[in-house]
Amino acid sequence: MAELRNCPRCGRLFAYQGRNLCKRCQEEDENEYLLVRRYVRDNPGATIFEVSEATGVEEEKILQYLREGRLQSKGLVAALECERCGRKITAGRYCPQCLKELESQIKSVVKDSGVKKPEIKTDSKERMFTKDSYLKRE
Ligand SMILES: [Zn+2]
Ligand SMILES: [Zn+2]
Repeated sequence: MAELRNCPRCGRLFAYQGRNLCKRCQEEDENEYLLVRRYVRDNPGATIFEVSEATGVEEEKILQYLREGRLQSKGLVAALECERCGRKITAGRYCPQCLKELESQIKSVVKDSGVKKPEIKTDSKERMFTKDSYLKRE
């Protein structure tokens, strides 16, 4: 079932399908992305500023492509920093080392909070209900 939302960019109402933009803006977004990708491929040493100038796409958007790992370029690498330690990175939000540490932190939190696979069988209706509704959500 589609949820109706207002497109944050153009304000039109649209059926939300996982992406927070209406179809028209999504297409626009995609075109901008392709433009940036093509430029970066042809000009591997270009900085974010140059790419933005040449393509007309905002620097913030280009940074976002980098963070999402959709764009990779040696020239653009210097623009991204690990949000945790400030090291230069090529994609994402954290450097590989911080990612590792964060991952193990998350794992230990999950363990501590008692979120485990159900090992003990129980007849409790409440638990059954919870499990069922959880499955339905997926
Ligand atoms: Zn829109
Ligand atoms: Zn880091």
